[in-house]
Amino acid sequence: MDGHNFERLKAHILPLSVSQVFDVARTEWALEAIEISDEFDNCPCGQDIKEHCYIRNRLNGNATYVGNVCINRFIQIDTGNLFDGLKRIAADITANANHDLIEHAWRSGYLFGENEYAFLKQTALKRKLSEAQIAWKTKINRRILAQTKVRNRTQR
Ligand SMILES: [Zn+2]
Repeated sequence: MDGHNFERLKAHILPLSVSQVFDVARTEWALEAIEISDEFDNCPCGQDIKEHCYIRNRLNGNATYVGNVCINRFIQIDTGNLFDGLKRIAADITANANHDLIEHAWRSGYLFGENEYAFLKQTALKRKLSEAQIAWKTKINRRILAQTKVRNRTQR
């Protein structure tokens, strides 16, 4: 076992869910936001995590968070390369957001319209951008980072 305790996670998620059958209850949850924190926190399963996935229950509005492993393995929401994409633009504000980050930003309303979505998609694999494109990308990346990195948990 690697520390991701399913029973502990289930005991956290079920009281916040409508269905008390975990396989049904997990489908009530949607990914709302992600965060990479500087310090370790705990997933409800007991594991130390730095990659937080904030999830909201579509039926009753309850909110909580789980780590990046548990959201994929147990809630079965595929975050793909979302965290890699976020780390990449956090390290270099001019970097290209990857496909998963672009989709997340678009669905979450972080992009100002289809123009920005199309621009990010079209330039996702481009190595050479014009100065104007770099400036636009930087502006969008800053917004994605600002929206994504919610406050550190210790500051709440
Ligand atoms: Zn976990």
